[in-house]
Amino acid sequence: MINVLFSALPARWPDYAEPLRAAFAAHGIDANLSCDHPPEEVDYIVFAPNGPITDFTPFTRCKAVLGLWAGVETVVDNETLTQPLARMVDSGLRDGMVQWVAGHVLRHHLGLDIDILGQDGTWTVRTPPLARDRRVGILGLGALGTACGQALAGLDFPVMGWSRRPKKIENITCYSGEAGLRKTLENSDILVLLLPQTPETENTLNADTLALMPRGAVVINPGRGPLIDDDALLEALESGQIGHATLDVFRIEPLPEDHPFWAHPNVTVTPHIASATRPETASTLIAENIQRVENGQSLLNQVDRAAGY
Ligand code: NAP
Repeated sequence: MINVLFSALPARWPDYAEPLRAAFAAHGIDANLSCDHPPEEVDYIVFAPNGPITDFTPFTRCKAVLGLWAGVETVVDNETLTQPLARMVDSGLRDGMVQWVAGHVLRHHLGLDIDILGQDGTWTVRTPPLARDRRVGILGLGALGTACGQALAGLDFPVMGWSRRPKKIENITCYSGEAGLRKTLENSDILVLLLPQTPETENTLNADTLALMPRGAVVINPGRGPLIDDDALLEALESGQIGHATLDVFRIEPLPEDHPFWAHPNVTVTPHIASATRPETASTLIAENIQRVENGQSLLNQVDRAAGY
């Protein structure tokens, strides 16, 4: 019998208990899933960073920590974590992100606000450009950035992307390195941020990099708040260098009521809802990873602790 500890907010337990048990059964794993195993008897931890565990030291026989979140910035530096850590790469999380990003890109591309907010009795005909004439850049070509890029390319947007290491991805022009970032920014009418939060990615968008973008460009950030220097973005919005920012993630969450983003006419705030891990599909990955460790194989989606993601 394998003891699996579920360590997340208590409100998540009813959503996950059955899907996890079903996935373990489907994978032939004889598991005892609980929220309160004694630490020294735990074999695997299903882990959310906002759950109760901050010190992994008492989990002396734990073989792996299986994260429920894609972002690992709050746990990656935890020195008490000596076990391998897997992050969440879930088809439900991916599909949700693709749909949120596509929706917000299309809003800005088609100028939907003009019609939705402008029902004033005037009949003004306008023809938005076709997607093929609107360039989209994506910072971060991982599980989510690649899926979003390919979906947008499927709608006929010319898509560029930027990653740490050089890549080749069908239908996406791929860049890396500082020159690659510059090229991506200079050519992005709409920019989507899907980088992880690491010391290297903090303030990727700052006064200098925002100034490289085409005047009036749109920034969409479902990645992490610290990817953007807030003050620099506000200045760029004031000057018209950036036309609109749609922001899902912030340095402080919930975004404080008095933060200027709330009141800014050219900022859309969404409350970190771009995408969420879905219990059914996520449970399958967790079961697969337990099966792999039990069979002596490496974890899927293991976090590179040195790279920070
Ligand atoms: P991922 O698969 O780890 O991909 C990260 C991408 O960023 C990779 O392409 C990586 O490059 C690139 N990258 C990392 N450091 C870089 C650097 N210094 N310079 C250039 N590129 C760099 O992550 P993911 O699953 O796509 O998720 C991305 C992020 O989305 C998560 O970390 C999380 O913060 C955020 N997220 C937000 C929500 C939400 O609801 N708002 C939901 C889920 C996830 P390589 O390809 O070379 O490794």
